[in-house]
Amino acid sequence: MIVLALLITFIVGFSPPDDPEAVGPWLLELVRGIEGRSPEGRRQYITYQLRAMDVPYRTMTFDTTLVTPRRKTRITGENIVVSLGSGRRTIVLGAHFDAVPGSPGANDNGGGVAVLLGLIQSMHKRSWNHRVDIVFFDQEEEGLFGSIFYVQRATSRERHRAMINLDVVGVGDEIFVGPVGEGDDDTIMPIVRKASRELGARFQEHAFYPGSDHLSFADAGLENISISVVPRGDADRLAAFVRGDTIDRQNLPIVLRTMHTPQDNSSHLSPSALALAFEFTKRVLILLDSTN
Ligand SMILES: [Zn+2]
Repeated sequence: MIVLALLITFIVGFSPPDDPEAVGPWLLELVRGIEGRSPEGRRQYITYQLRAMDVPYRTMTFDTTLVTPRRKTRITGENIVVSLGSGRRTIVLGAHFDAVPGSPGANDNGGGVAVLLGLIQSMHKRSWNHRVDIVFFDQEEEGLFGSIFYVQRATSRERHRAMINLDVVGVGDEIFVGPVGEGDDDTIMPIVRKASRELGARFQEHAFYPGSDHLSFADAGLENISISVVPRGDADRLAAFVRGDTIDRQNLPIVLRTMHTPQDNSSHLSPSALALAFEFTKRVLILLDSTN
């Protein structure tokens, strides 16, 4: 019975929508499929969806020890990678799939996972100019381990075109992109701005942006940017928070109220936010693929 119930839950969510209106609800179903699962369950959910789409993937396991002055911690994990196209240069699109223990991990980052699955579903038959590596990163919350491992093992300075990270994309109608500046987004940002103009969406870019897997690429000097979708005004609030401004309670970013808590479940996510992240990222990818 348990196996049957699991199969039924896994099957929900796999049906490519033809109607644009159906994209958001479909992505939300994918979030419902992954939220609240164990680390292994989250991995299995992703690979189940990829097999159902008949899309080949590979896994990258890592096993490392984190040494701090106080203790040694063993960190193990497994990234899941889908490669589309075979061009000379590589575009990396990533989202972490791990969640903080005790949190269902719906907005952080079930939404990013759902958008990646949706983009694979809708774009895997396209012919690409470049190679696109779509990576579900493990162990972001522990210290960006999955992306650090990926950068060390799978990137090359000559081939790397840009990395696009998705984290926290499930609530609101404001696209928040960052961290802008430092010289590692000079070629991706004009593309990101063009995509936002084409979409006519509310768009905020900031130098101050919360940490996520894009930082592993930044640390290696590789072109990168990260995308969130947040409630109106939250981009400014998050930037102030990251900058370290003193902020009173009313001005705390809305997304931080549930993030990393037992309340981060799909009931507070909106299909329109997920659909916006999907449409925007799709445009950025298509524009980026058309450049050298
Ligand atoms: Zn996150």
